[in-house]
Amino acid sequence: MVLFRNKWQLASLVMISTMLVDLDHLLANPIYDPNRCSIGFHPLHGFLPIAGYLLLCFHPLTRLAGIGLVIHMALDAIDCQLTSGLWYMP
Ligand SMILES: [Zn+2]
Repeated sequence: MVLFRNKWQLASLVMISTMLVDLDHLLANPIYDPNRCSIGFHPLHGFLPIAGYLLLCFHPLTRLAGIGLVIHMALDAIDCQLTSGLWYMP
């Protein structure tokens, strides 16, 4: 039971943190633009935050959230590559 609860908390931490990182899109105008790259444009999608997400992967407590965030950034970069041929917003 304790183990289950622990995993559930970890799973929700990962999901919430990977979704919260997209809240920075709300600061942008327009909020959603299919031709825009998230990477390098939104404050939480910059290179410094991404370096922080990589650091999270090294700590056991924050590893899952870190991996989730790095995967999120990778998917955003791939999305950017497919739509505009760039890996990030210069
Ligand atoms: Zn994103």
